[in-house]
Amino acid sequence: MTISLTPDGRVAAPQGSLLHVPVRGAVREAPPAAFSEGEQLEFSGSDLGGAARVYARLSAARNVSVRAGALVRLSRVRRKLRDPAGALQAYDQLAQIEGVNVGGLPATLVARVGRASVFSEMGRTSELRDEAGALQKDLLEARWPLVKSEYQFYATQAAEWLEMKPSWDAEALARAEAVDWLWHSRSGLEPSGRRSIAFPSGTALVAWSASQGRVRAMVAGPTYLAALASQAVAVDLRLTLSDEGGHVLSGEPAPARQAAIRPAAAAGLPWTLHVFAAPGNAATPPSARRRLLILAFAVVGLVLVAGWYFILRAIAREQRASRLQSDFVAAVSHEFRSPLTSMSHIAEMLASDRFPTEDLRRTSYDVLVRESDRLRRLVEGLLDFGRFESGAAALRIESVDVSELVRSTVADFQQRVAPEGYAIELGTPPAGVFADADREALSRALWNLLDNAVKYSPDCRTVWVEMERQSNDVAIVVRDRGLGIPLNEQREIFNRFVRGADSKARRIKGTGIGLAMVSQIVRAHGGEIRLTSEPGRGSSFTMLLHTAEGAA
Ligand code: ADP
Repeated sequence: MTISLTPDGRVAAPQGSLLHVPVRGAVREAPPAAFSEGEQLEFSGSDLGGAARVYARLSAARNVSVRAGALVRLSRVRRKLRDPAGALQAYDQLAQIEGVNVGGLPATLVARVGRASVFSEMGRTSELRDEAGALQKDLLEARWPLVKSEYQFYATQAAEWLEMKPSWDAEALARAEAVDWLWHSRSGLEPSGRRSIAFPSGTALVAWSASQGRVRAMVAGPTYLAALASQAVAVDLRLTLSDEGGHVLSGEPAPARQAAIRPAAAAGLPWTLHVFAAPGNAATPPSARRRLLILAFAVVGLVLVAGWYFILRAIAREQRASRLQSDFVAAVSHEFRSPLTSMSHIAEMLASDRFPTEDLRRTSYDVLVRESDRLRRLVEGLLDFGRFESGAAALRIESVDVSELVRSTVADFQQRVAPEGYAIELGTPPAGVFADADREALSRALWNLLDNAVKYSPDCRTVWVEMERQSNDVAIVVRDRGLGIPLNEQREIFNRFVRGADSKARRIKGTGIGLAMVSQIVRAHGGEIRLTSEPGRGSSFTMLLHTAEGAA
Protein backbone atom coordinates (compact mmCIF):
# COMPACT_ATOMS: atom_id res chain seq x y z
CA MET A 1 0.00 0.00 0.00
CA THR A 2 1.08 3.60 -0.52
CA ILE A 3 0.99 6.01 2.39
CA SER A 4 2.05 9.55 3.13
CA LEU A 5 3.03 10.86 6.52
CA THR A 6 2.79 14.56 7.42
CA PRO A 7 5.25 16.19 9.85
CA ASP A 8 2.56 16.22 12.56
CA GLY A 9 2.09 12.47 12.29
CA ARG A 10 -1.10 12.30 10.25
CA VAL A 11 -1.19 9.40 7.83
CA ALA A 12 -2.98 9.26 4.53
CA ALA A 13 -3.56 5.60 3.66
CA PRO A 14 -6.23 3.64 1.77
CA GLN A 15 -9.47 3.42 3.76
CA GLY A 16 -9.38 0.71 6.42
CA SER A 17 -5.84 -0.45 5.55
CA LEU A 18 -4.00 0.88 8.60
CA LEU A 19 -4.83 -0.94 11.85
CA HIS A 20 -3.21 1.71 14.01
CA VAL A 21 -1.72 5.15 13.41
CA PRO A 22 1.45 6.73 14.73
CA VAL A 23 -0.30 9.75 16.31
CA ARG A 24 -3.94 10.27 17.14
CA GLY A 25 -5.31 13.29 15.28
CA ALA A 26 -7.17 16.12 16.94
CA VAL A 27 -10.91 15.37 17.08
CA ARG A 28 -13.71 17.50 18.50
CA GLU A 29 -14.16 17.08 22.22
CA ALA A 30 -16.07 19.08 24.82
CA PRO A 31 -13.95 21.03 27.37
CA PRO A 32 -13.90 19.36 30.81
CA ALA A 33 -15.27 22.57 32.30
CA ALA A 34 -18.63 21.87 30.71
CA PHE A 35 -19.15 19.02 33.14
CA SER A 36 -17.69 20.56 36.29
CA GLU A 37 -21.09 20.96 37.96
CA GLY A 38 -21.97 17.31 37.55
CA GLU A 39 -18.49 16.13 38.48
CA GLN A 40 -18.62 18.28 41.61
CA LEU A 41 -21.75 16.44 42.69
CA GLU A 42 -20.42 13.05 41.58
CA PHE A 43 -17.02 13.13 43.21
CA SER A 44 -17.04 15.72 46.04
CA GLY A 45 -20.62 15.80 47.21
CA SER A 46 -21.27 12.17 46.53
CA ASP A 47 -24.68 13.12 45.22
CA LEU A 48 -24.87 10.59 42.47
CA GLY A 49 -28.53 11.23 41.86
CA GLY A 50 -27.91 14.96 41.44
CA ALA A 51 -24.95 14.28 39.17
CA ALA A 52 -27.11 11.99 37.06
CA ARG A 53 -29.74 14.67 36.63
CA VAL A 54 -27.11 17.27 35.59
CA TYR A 55 -25.58 14.85 33.04
CA ALA A 56 -28.99 13.86 31.79
CA ARG A 57 -29.79 17.46 31.16
CA LEU A 58 -26.49 18.02 29.34
CA SER A 59 -27.08 14.88 27.25
CA ALA A 60 -29.77 16.81 25.48
CA ALA A 61 -27.46 19.75 24.70
CA ARG A 62 -27.26 21.02 21.17
CA ASN A 63 -23.47 20.64 20.98
CA VAL A 64 -22.66 17.01 20.05
CA SER A 65 -19.38 16.90 21.90
CA VAL A 66 -21.11 18.09 25.09
CA ARG A 67 -23.84 15.55 24.46
CA ALA A 68 -21.26 12.77 24.06
CA GLY A 69 -19.29 13.86 27.15
CA ALA A 70 -22.51 13.99 29.18
CA LEU A 71 -23.70 10.55 27.99
CA VAL A 72 -20.48 8.81 28.90
CA ARG A 73 -20.62 10.40 32.38
CA LEU A 74 -24.31 9.60 32.76
CA SER A 75 -23.74 5.93 32.03
CA ARG A 76 -20.83 5.91 34.48
CA VAL A 77 -23.02 7.36 37.26
CA ARG A 78 -25.87 4.99 36.45
CA ARG A 79 -23.50 2.07 36.79
CA LYS A 80 -22.46 3.42 40.17
CA LEU A 81 -26.13 3.67 41.07
CA ARG A 82 -26.49 0.01 40.07
CA ASP A 83 -28.75 0.88 37.20
CA PRO A 84 -27.21 -1.17 34.38
CA ALA A 85 -30.25 -0.79 32.18
CA GLY A 86 -29.97 2.98 32.43
CA ALA A 87 -26.25 2.80 31.75
CA LEU A 88 -26.85 0.68 28.66
CA GLN A 89 -29.44 3.15 27.44
CA ALA A 90 -26.92 5.99 27.71
CA TYR A 91 -24.28 3.95 25.89
CA ASP A 92 -26.78 3.20 23.14
CA GLN A 93 -27.30 6.89 22.63
CA LEU A 94 -23.54 7.47 22.69
CA ALA A 95 -23.05 4.81 20.04
CA GLN A 96 -25.00 7.00 17.62
CA ILE A 97 -22.51 9.87 17.80
CA GLU A 98 -19.81 9.64 15.16
CA GLY A 99 -16.76 11.87 14.76
CA VAL A 100 -16.53 12.96 18.37
CA ASN A 101 -14.04 12.00 21.05
CA VAL A 102 -14.66 11.53 24.70
CA GLY A 103 -11.72 11.29 27.08
CA GLY A 104 -9.43 11.17 24.04
CA LEU A 105 -11.15 8.14 22.51
CA PRO A 106 -13.81 7.90 19.79
CA ALA A 107 -17.29 8.06 21.31
CA THR A 108 -18.44 4.96 19.35
CA LEU A 109 -15.50 2.90 20.71
CA VAL A 110 -16.26 4.07 24.25
CA ALA A 111 -19.91 3.10 23.79
CA ARG A 112 -18.99 -0.40 22.56
CA VAL A 113 -16.49 -1.03 25.33
CA GLY A 114 -18.94 0.41 27.90
CA ARG A 115 -21.80 -1.86 26.79
CA ALA A 116 -19.51 -4.90 26.82
CA SER A 117 -18.32 -4.02 30.38
CA VAL A 118 -21.91 -3.76 31.58
CA PHE A 119 -22.81 -7.12 30.03
CA SER A 120 -19.70 -8.61 31.60
CA GLU A 121 -20.62 -7.23 35.04
CA MET A 122 -24.13 -8.53 34.69
CA GLY A 123 -22.99 -11.94 33.51
CA ARG A 124 -25.05 -11.61 30.30
CA THR A 125 -22.62 -13.79 28.35
CA SER A 126 -24.32 -14.10 25.03
CA GLU A 127 -24.77 -10.32 24.70
CA LEU A 128 -21.18 -9.87 25.90
CA ARG A 129 -20.03 -12.27 23.16
CA ASP A 130 -21.94 -10.31 20.50
CA GLU A 131 -20.62 -6.97 21.69
CA ALA A 132 -17.00 -8.20 22.01
CA GLY A 133 -17.27 -9.85 18.59
CA ALA A 134 -18.43 -6.57 17.09
CA LEU A 135 -15.55 -4.76 18.81
CA GLN A 136 -13.02 -7.27 17.43
CA LYS A 137 -14.47 -6.90 13.93
CA ASP A 138 -14.32 -3.10 14.14
CA LEU A 139 -10.70 -3.31 15.24
CA LEU A 140 -9.76 -5.68 12.41
CA GLU A 141 -11.43 -3.32 9.95
CA ALA A 142 -9.52 -0.36 11.43
CA ARG A 143 -12.68 1.55 12.24
CA TRP A 144 -10.96 3.94 14.62
CA PRO A 145 -7.66 5.80 14.30
CA LEU A 146 -6.03 4.35 17.42
CA VAL A 147 -2.36 4.45 18.35
CA LYS A 148 -0.54 1.14 18.66
CA SER A 149 -0.87 0.77 22.48
CA GLU A 150 -4.60 1.54 22.37
CA TYR A 151 -5.14 -0.84 19.52
CA GLN A 152 -3.30 -3.62 21.32
CA PHE A 153 -5.15 -2.91 24.57
CA TYR A 154 -8.63 -3.10 23.07
CA ALA A 155 -7.78 -6.07 20.84
CA THR A 156 -6.53 -7.96 23.90
CA GLN A 157 -9.62 -6.89 25.88
CA ALA A 158 -11.99 -8.10 23.14
CA ALA A 159 -10.15 -11.44 22.99
CA GLU A 160 -10.44 -11.81 26.75
CA TRP A 161 -14.17 -11.23 26.64
CA LEU A 162 -14.41 -13.77 23.81
CA GLU A 163 -12.24 -16.13 25.84
CA MET A 164 -9.79 -16.61 22.99
CA LYS A 165 -6.31 -15.54 21.98
CA PRO A 166 -6.14 -12.09 20.36
CA SER A 167 -6.67 -12.53 16.64
CA TRP A 168 -4.37 -10.37 14.58
CA ASP A 169 -4.26 -9.82 10.87
CA ALA A 170 -0.48 -10.38 10.68
CA GLU A 171 -0.23 -8.86 7.23
CA ALA A 172 -2.03 -5.62 8.16
CA LEU A 173 -0.31 -5.48 11.54
CA ALA A 174 3.17 -5.70 9.97
CA ARG A 175 2.22 -2.87 7.62
CA ALA A 176 0.95 -0.73 10.51
CA GLU A 177 4.16 -1.47 12.43
CA ALA A 178 6.20 -0.44 9.41
CA VAL A 179 4.35 2.91 9.26
CA ASP A 180 5.03 3.32 12.99
CA TRP A 181 8.68 2.59 12.34
CA LEU A 182 8.77 5.25 9.60
CA TRP A 183 7.27 7.81 11.97
CA HIS A 184 9.69 7.08 14.78
CA SER A 185 12.69 6.99 12.46
CA ARG A 186 11.63 10.10 10.50
CA SER A 187 14.44 12.30 11.77
CA GLY A 188 17.15 9.81 10.72
CA LEU A 189 15.65 8.76 7.37
CA GLU A 190 17.73 9.19 4.19
CA PRO A 191 15.91 11.12 1.43
CA SER A 192 15.05 7.81 -0.14
CA GLY A 193 15.66 4.22 0.78
CA ARG A 194 14.40 0.67 1.05
CA ARG A 195 14.37 -1.55 4.10
CA SER A 196 12.87 -4.81 5.12
CA ILE A 197 12.09 -4.93 8.81
CA ALA A 198 11.27 -7.99 10.87
CA PHE A 199 8.40 -7.37 13.29
CA PRO A 200 6.88 -9.97 15.61
CA SER A 201 3.89 -10.11 13.30
CA GLY A 202 6.07 -10.67 10.18
CA THR A 203 8.53 -8.99 7.86
CA ALA A 204 7.50 -5.81 6.08
CA LEU A 205 9.17 -4.12 3.17
CA VAL A 206 9.31 -0.32 3.13
CA ALA A 207 10.45 1.91 0.28
CA TRP A 208 10.27 5.60 1.00
CA SER A 209 11.15 9.07 -0.12
CA ALA A 210 11.32 11.83 2.50
CA SER A 211 11.52 15.57 2.16
CA GLN A 212 10.88 18.37 4.60
CA GLY A 213 9.47 16.09 7.25
CA ARG A 214 6.94 14.60 4.83
CA VAL A 215 7.38 10.94 4.01
CA ARG A 216 5.84 9.07 1.12
CA ALA A 217 6.24 5.33 1.25
CA MET A 218 5.24 1.99 -0.23
CA VAL A 219 4.67 -0.62 2.41
CA ALA A 220 4.31 -4.35 1.72
CA GLY A 221 3.64 -7.11 4.22
CA PRO A 222 5.01 -10.66 4.58
CA THR A 223 2.72 -12.12 1.92
CA TYR A 224 4.40 -10.01 -0.75
CA LEU A 225 7.84 -11.35 0.18
CA ALA A 226 6.53 -14.91 0.29
CA ALA A 227 5.09 -14.44 -3.20
CA LEU A 228 8.51 -13.26 -4.43
CA ALA A 229 10.21 -16.34 -3.00
CA SER A 230 7.67 -18.76 -4.43
CA GLN A 231 8.48 -17.66 -8.01
CA ALA A 232 11.44 -20.02 -8.25
CA VAL A 233 9.70 -23.13 -7.03
CA ALA A 234 8.55 -24.17 -10.50
CA VAL A 235 12.01 -25.40 -11.52
CA ASP A 236 12.89 -27.26 -8.32
CA LEU A 237 14.75 -24.29 -6.93
CA ARG A 238 14.28 -22.64 -3.59
CA LEU A 239 14.70 -18.94 -2.97
CA THR A 240 15.42 -17.41 0.40
CA LEU A 241 15.52 -13.72 1.29
CA SER A 242 17.39 -12.55 4.33
CA ASP A 243 17.96 -9.05 5.63
CA GLU A 244 21.28 -7.35 6.42
CA GLY A 245 21.29 -8.94 9.85
CA GLY A 246 21.01 -12.42 8.35
CA HIS A 247 17.40 -12.95 9.46
CA VAL A 248 15.42 -15.08 7.07
CA LEU A 249 12.61 -12.92 5.74
CA SER A 250 11.04 -15.41 3.47
CA GLY A 251 11.62 -19.01 2.40
CA GLU A 252 13.48 -21.71 4.26
CA PRO A 253 17.04 -21.23 5.59
CA ALA A 254 19.52 -21.82 2.76
CA PRO A 255 22.06 -24.64 3.16
CA ALA A 256 25.59 -23.35 3.80
CA ARG A 257 26.86 -24.86 0.57
CA GLN A 258 25.23 -25.29 -2.83
CA ALA A 259 23.55 -21.91 -2.80
CA ALA A 260 24.01 -19.02 -5.18
CA ILE A 261 24.10 -15.83 -3.16
CA ARG A 262 23.35 -12.33 -4.36
CA PRO A 263 24.19 -9.88 -1.57
CA ALA A 264 21.98 -6.95 -0.78
CA ALA A 265 24.57 -4.34 -1.77
CA ALA A 266 25.11 -5.82 -5.23
CA ALA A 267 21.45 -6.00 -6.03
CA GLY A 268 20.61 -2.59 -4.65
CA LEU A 269 17.88 -4.33 -2.70
CA PRO A 270 17.41 -4.52 1.02
CA TRP A 271 17.89 -8.30 1.02
CA THR A 272 20.36 -11.02 0.33
CA LEU A 273 19.06 -13.55 -2.10
CA HIS A 274 20.00 -17.25 -1.78
CA VAL A 275 19.07 -19.61 -4.56
CA PHE A 276 19.57 -23.33 -4.06
CA ALA A 277 18.29 -26.65 -5.33
CA ALA A 278 15.32 -28.12 -3.55
CA PRO A 279 16.50 -30.72 -1.04
CA GLY A 280 16.11 -34.38 -2.04
CA ASN A 281 16.29 -33.44 -5.70
CA ALA A 282 18.08 -36.64 -6.62
CA ALA A 283 15.24 -38.74 -5.32
CA THR A 284 12.48 -36.66 -6.82
CA PRO A 285 11.29 -37.29 -10.39
CA PRO A 286 13.23 -35.39 -13.09
CA SER A 287 12.43 -31.74 -13.33
CA ALA A 288 10.40 -30.46 -16.23
CA ARG A 289 13.55 -29.21 -17.92
CA ARG A 290 15.36 -32.51 -17.49
CA ARG A 291 12.35 -34.39 -18.78
CA LEU A 292 12.24 -32.10 -21.80
CA LEU A 293 15.93 -32.72 -22.44
CA ILE A 294 15.51 -36.50 -22.20
CA LEU A 295 12.54 -36.28 -24.54
CA ALA A 296 14.54 -34.21 -27.03
CA PHE A 297 17.40 -36.75 -26.91
CA ALA A 298 14.93 -39.58 -27.35
CA VAL A 299 13.39 -37.88 -30.39
CA VAL A 300 16.82 -37.18 -31.93
CA GLY A 301 17.84 -40.79 -31.22
CA LEU A 302 14.66 -42.08 -32.78
CA VAL A 303 15.12 -39.91 -35.87
CA LEU A 304 18.72 -41.18 -36.20
CA VAL A 305 17.68 -44.81 -35.83
CA ALA A 306 14.82 -44.33 -38.30
CA GLY A 307 17.21 -42.56 -40.70
CA TRP A 308 19.70 -45.41 -40.48
CA TYR A 309 16.95 -47.96 -40.95
CA PHE A 310 15.71 -46.34 -44.14
CA ILE A 311 19.24 -45.82 -45.51
CA LEU A 312 20.20 -49.44 -44.82
CA ARG A 313 16.95 -50.67 -46.32
CA ALA A 314 17.52 -48.58 -49.46
CA ILE A 315 21.09 -49.90 -49.74
CA ALA A 316 19.87 -53.49 -49.31
CA ARG A 317 17.22 -52.94 -51.98
CA GLU A 318 19.75 -51.44 -54.36
CA GLN A 319 22.11 -54.32 -53.79
CA ARG A 320 19.35 -56.85 -54.36
CA ALA A 321 18.17 -55.07 -57.52
CA SER A 322 21.67 -54.96 -58.98
CA ARG A 323 22.25 -58.62 -58.06
CA LEU A 324 18.98 -59.58 -59.77
CA GLN A 325 19.94 -57.54 -62.78
CA SER A 326 23.32 -59.19 -63.18
CA ASP A 327 21.67 -62.61 -62.66
CA PHE A 328 19.31 -61.66 -65.48
CA VAL A 329 22.11 -60.63 -67.82
CA ALA A 330 23.93 -63.88 -67.07
CA ALA A 331 20.74 -65.91 -67.67
CA VAL A 332 19.94 -64.13 -70.94
CA SER A 333 23.50 -64.59 -72.20
CA HIS A 334 23.27 -68.26 -71.33
CA GLU A 335 19.90 -68.61 -73.09
CA PHE A 336 21.40 -67.09 -76.22
CA ARG A 337 24.64 -68.97 -76.08
CA SER A 338 23.35 -72.56 -76.32
CA PRO A 339 21.24 -72.20 -79.53
CA LEU A 340 23.93 -70.02 -81.06
CA THR A 341 26.60 -72.61 -80.29
CA SER A 342 24.68 -75.46 -81.91
CA MET A 343 23.68 -73.24 -84.88
CA SER A 344 27.25 -72.16 -85.57
CA HIS A 345 28.43 -75.75 -85.23
CA ILE A 346 25.89 -76.96 -87.83
CA ALA A 347 26.65 -74.02 -90.10
CA GLU A 348 30.35 -74.91 -89.96
CA MET A 349 29.61 -78.53 -90.91
CA LEU A 350 27.36 -77.41 -93.76
CA ALA A 351 30.04 -75.06 -95.05
CA SER A 352 32.65 -77.76 -95.14
CA ASP A 353 30.11 -80.32 -96.38
CA ARG A 354 31.11 -82.78 -93.68
CA PHE A 355 27.81 -84.67 -93.37
CA PRO A 356 28.34 -88.38 -93.87
CA THR A 357 24.69 -89.13 -94.67
CA GLU A 358 21.75 -87.30 -96.15
CA ASP A 359 19.67 -88.15 -93.08
CA LEU A 360 22.10 -86.43 -90.78
CA ARG A 361 22.10 -83.39 -93.02
CA ARG A 362 18.28 -83.29 -92.87
CA THR A 363 18.27 -83.67 -89.08
CA SER A 364 20.77 -80.81 -88.86
CA TYR A 365 18.46 -78.63 -90.89
CA ASP A 366 15.64 -79.44 -88.43
CA VAL A 367 17.88 -78.48 -85.50
CA LEU A 368 18.75 -75.22 -87.25
CA VAL A 369 15.07 -74.42 -87.72
CA ARG A 370 14.24 -75.30 -84.09
CA GLU A 371 17.14 -73.37 -82.60
CA SER A 372 16.55 -70.30 -84.73
CA ASP A 373 12.88 -70.50 -83.70
CA ARG A 374 13.96 -70.67 -80.08
CA LEU A 375 16.22 -67.64 -80.58
CA ARG A 376 13.36 -65.75 -82.26
CA ARG A 377 11.03 -66.51 -79.33
CA LEU A 378 13.70 -65.41 -76.90
CA VAL A 379 14.18 -62.08 -78.64
CA GLU A 380 10.42 -61.59 -78.99
CA GLY A 381 9.99 -62.34 -75.32
CA LEU A 382 12.57 -59.71 -74.36
CA LEU A 383 11.04 -57.16 -76.71
CA ASP A 384 7.55 -57.86 -75.33
CA PHE A 385 8.87 -57.50 -71.81
CA GLY A 386 10.18 -54.03 -72.70
CA ARG A 387 6.85 -53.18 -74.33
CA PHE A 388 4.55 -54.32 -71.52
CA GLU A 389 6.67 -52.69 -68.84
CA SER A 390 5.11 -49.37 -69.86
CA GLY A 391 1.67 -50.75 -68.84
CA ALA A 392 -1.73 -50.03 -70.42
CA ALA A 393 -0.33 -47.42 -72.84
CA ALA A 394 1.37 -50.17 -74.84
CA LEU A 395 -1.83 -52.20 -75.35
CA ARG A 396 -3.73 -52.39 -78.61
CA ILE A 397 -7.24 -52.93 -77.28
CA GLU A 398 -9.86 -54.62 -79.43
CA SER A 399 -12.80 -56.92 -78.84
CA VAL A 400 -11.29 -60.38 -78.40
CA ASP A 401 -13.06 -63.73 -78.34
CA VAL A 402 -11.25 -65.09 -75.30
CA SER A 403 -12.38 -68.70 -75.81
CA GLU A 404 -11.02 -68.69 -79.32
CA LEU A 405 -7.78 -67.01 -78.23
CA VAL A 406 -7.23 -69.63 -75.48
CA ARG A 407 -7.96 -72.45 -77.86
CA SER A 408 -5.54 -71.24 -80.56
CA THR A 409 -2.73 -70.40 -78.10
CA VAL A 410 -3.06 -73.81 -76.46
CA ALA A 411 -3.01 -75.46 -79.88
CA ASP A 412 0.18 -73.56 -80.92
CA PHE A 413 1.81 -74.40 -77.64
CA GLN A 414 0.77 -78.04 -77.83
CA GLN A 415 2.47 -78.24 -81.22
CA ARG A 416 5.68 -76.88 -79.77
CA VAL A 417 5.86 -79.20 -76.81
CA ALA A 418 4.47 -82.31 -78.35
CA PRO A 419 7.96 -83.51 -79.49
CA GLU A 420 9.04 -83.45 -75.83
CA GLY A 421 6.04 -85.65 -74.91
CA TYR A 422 3.93 -82.99 -73.19
CA ALA A 423 0.14 -82.78 -73.51
CA ILE A 424 -2.04 -79.79 -72.79
CA GLU A 425 -5.55 -80.75 -71.74
CA LEU A 426 -8.02 -78.00 -72.46
CA GLY A 427 -11.39 -78.25 -70.71
CA THR A 428 -14.36 -77.25 -72.83
CA PRO A 429 -14.23 -73.45 -72.85
CA PRO A 430 -17.55 -71.55 -72.55
CA ALA A 431 -18.52 -70.25 -75.95
CA GLY A 432 -18.43 -66.61 -76.97
CA VAL A 433 -16.68 -64.96 -74.08
CA PHE A 434 -15.50 -61.57 -75.29
CA ALA A 435 -13.21 -59.09 -73.61
CA ASP A 436 -11.69 -55.76 -74.55
CA ALA A 437 -8.08 -56.81 -74.70
CA ASP A 438 -4.79 -56.85 -76.56
CA ARG A 439 -4.85 -60.18 -78.37
CA GLU A 440 -1.08 -60.50 -78.68
CA ALA A 441 -0.47 -59.52 -75.04
CA LEU A 442 -3.09 -61.96 -73.69
CA SER A 443 -1.75 -64.75 -75.82
CA ARG A 444 1.79 -63.94 -74.56
CA ALA A 445 0.62 -64.08 -70.93
CA LEU A 446 -1.05 -67.47 -71.41
CA TRP A 447 1.97 -68.74 -73.35
CA ASN A 448 4.29 -67.76 -70.47
CA LEU A 449 2.10 -69.63 -67.96
CA LEU A 450 2.03 -72.71 -70.18
CA ASP A 451 5.77 -72.46 -70.75
CA ASN A 452 6.40 -72.39 -66.97
CA ALA A 453 3.94 -75.21 -66.31
CA VAL A 454 5.87 -77.42 -68.72
CA LYS A 455 9.28 -76.18 -67.61
CA TYR A 456 8.65 -76.80 -63.92
CA SER A 457 6.91 -80.18 -64.35
CA PRO A 458 9.80 -82.55 -65.03
CA ASP A 459 7.85 -85.66 -63.99
CA CYS A 460 4.20 -85.08 -64.90
CA ARG A 461 3.86 -84.41 -68.60
CA THR A 462 0.31 -83.12 -68.60
CA VAL A 463 -0.78 -79.54 -68.10
CA TRP A 464 -4.42 -78.56 -67.67
CA VAL A 465 -6.07 -75.42 -68.97
CA GLU A 466 -9.57 -74.44 -67.89
CA MET A 467 -11.70 -71.48 -68.59
CA GLU A 468 -14.81 -70.47 -66.73
CA ARG A 469 -17.12 -67.49 -66.39
CA GLN A 470 -17.50 -65.84 -63.02
CA SER A 471 -20.34 -63.26 -63.33
CA ASN A 472 -18.66 -60.39 -65.25
CA ASP A 473 -15.24 -62.01 -65.22
CA VAL A 474 -13.61 -64.83 -67.05
CA ALA A 475 -11.00 -66.98 -65.33
CA ILE A 476 -8.25 -68.72 -67.33
CA VAL A 477 -6.58 -71.34 -65.16
CA VAL A 478 -3.27 -73.09 -65.97
CA ARG A 479 -2.63 -76.04 -63.66
CA ASP A 480 0.30 -78.40 -63.39
CA ARG A 481 1.51 -81.18 -61.11
CA GLY A 482 5.06 -79.94 -61.08
CA LEU A 483 7.53 -78.71 -58.49
CA GLY A 484 5.19 -76.24 -56.81
CA ILE A 485 6.23 -72.95 -55.19
CA PRO A 486 6.97 -72.41 -51.48
CA LEU A 487 4.71 -69.90 -49.75
CA ASN A 488 7.52 -67.44 -49.01
CA GLU A 489 8.27 -67.13 -52.75
CA GLN A 490 4.70 -66.85 -54.00
CA ARG A 491 4.60 -63.02 -53.91
CA GLU A 492 8.18 -62.34 -54.93
CA ILE A 493 8.18 -64.42 -58.14
CA PHE A 494 5.88 -61.86 -59.82
CA ASN A 495 8.70 -59.26 -59.56
CA ARG A 496 11.02 -59.02 -62.53
CA PHE A 497 14.28 -61.01 -62.52
CA VAL A 498 13.18 -63.01 -59.48
CA ARG A 499 13.64 -66.76 -59.84
CA GLY A 500 12.77 -69.51 -57.39
CA ALA A 501 15.57 -70.99 -55.32
CA ASP A 502 14.63 -74.57 -56.30
CA SER A 503 14.58 -73.65 -60.03
CA LYS A 504 18.05 -72.15 -59.80
CA ALA A 505 19.34 -75.12 -57.80
CA ARG A 506 17.99 -77.56 -60.43
CA ARG A 507 19.59 -75.42 -63.15
CA ILE A 508 16.27 -75.00 -64.98
CA LYS A 509 16.78 -72.36 -67.63
CA GLY A 510 15.03 -69.04 -67.18
CA THR A 511 15.48 -65.27 -66.98
CA GLY A 512 12.94 -64.30 -64.27
CA ILE A 513 10.81 -62.06 -66.51
CA GLY A 514 8.01 -64.47 -67.53
CA LEU A 515 5.68 -64.02 -64.53
CA ALA A 516 6.51 -60.28 -64.20
CA MET A 517 5.24 -59.93 -67.75
CA VAL A 518 2.08 -61.97 -67.02
CA SER A 519 1.31 -59.83 -64.00
CA GLN A 520 1.92 -56.58 -65.94
CA ILE A 521 -0.31 -57.65 -68.80
CA VAL A 522 -3.16 -58.80 -66.57
CA ARG A 523 -3.00 -55.63 -64.46
CA ALA A 524 -2.88 -53.45 -67.58
CA HIS A 525 -6.20 -55.08 -68.55
CA GLY A 526 -7.66 -54.22 -65.14
CA GLY A 527 -7.55 -57.89 -64.16
CA GLU A 528 -5.95 -59.97 -61.45
CA ILE A 529 -3.49 -62.84 -61.25
CA ARG A 530 -3.88 -65.46 -58.52
CA LEU A 531 -1.68 -68.34 -57.50
CA THR A 532 -2.27 -71.41 -55.39
CA SER A 533 0.61 -73.79 -55.08
CA GLU A 534 2.16 -76.38 -52.83
CA PRO A 535 5.74 -77.56 -53.17
CA GLY A 536 5.88 -81.06 -54.60
CA ARG A 537 2.21 -81.07 -55.63
CA GLY A 538 1.98 -78.48 -58.37
CA SER A 539 0.73 -74.99 -59.06
CA SER A 540 -2.37 -73.32 -60.36
CA PHE A 541 -2.16 -69.83 -61.92
CA THR A 542 -5.46 -67.99 -62.58
CA MET A 543 -5.81 -64.93 -64.82
CA LEU A 544 -9.03 -63.11 -63.98
CA LEU A 545 -10.23 -60.69 -66.70
CA HIS A 546 -13.33 -58.52 -67.08
CA THR A 547 -15.60 -59.58 -69.94
CA ALA A 548 -16.96 -56.98 -72.36
CA GLU A 549 -20.53 -56.05 -71.33
CA GLY A 550 -23.25 -57.37 -73.57
CA ALA A 551 -20.76 -59.13 -75.80
CA ALA A 552 -21.60 -62.59 -74.55
P1 ADP B 1 11.70 -68.00 -65.11
O1 ADP B 1 10.74 -69.10 -65.36
O2 ADP B 1 12.36 -67.51 -66.36
O3 ADP B 1 12.64 -68.29 -64.02
P2 ADP B 1 9.37 -66.56 -64.35
O4 ADP B 1 9.14 -65.11 -64.01
O5 ADP B 1 8.50 -67.12 -65.39
O6 ADP B 1 10.88 -66.72 -64.59
O7 ADP B 1 9.12 -67.43 -63.04
C1 ADP B 1 9.71 -66.99 -61.82
C2 ADP B 1 9.93 -68.19 -60.91
O8 ADP B 1 8.66 -68.69 -60.50
C3 ADP B 1 10.57 -69.37 -61.58
O9 ADP B 1 11.99 -69.21 -61.49
C4 ADP B 1 10.07 -70.51 -60.75
O10 ADP B 1 10.86 -70.64 -59.58
C5 ADP B 1 8.71 -70.09 -60.34
N1 ADP B 1 7.62 -70.67 -61.17
C6 ADP B 1 6.93 -70.07 -62.15
N2 ADP B 1 5.98 -70.90 -62.65
C7 ADP B 1 6.08 -72.05 -61.96
C8 ADP B 1 5.38 -73.30 -62.02
N3 ADP B 1 4.38 -73.51 -62.88
N4 ADP B 1 5.76 -74.25 -61.14
C9 ADP B 1 6.76 -74.04 -60.27
N5 ADP B 1 7.44 -72.91 -60.19
C10 ADP B 1 7.13 -71.93 -61.02
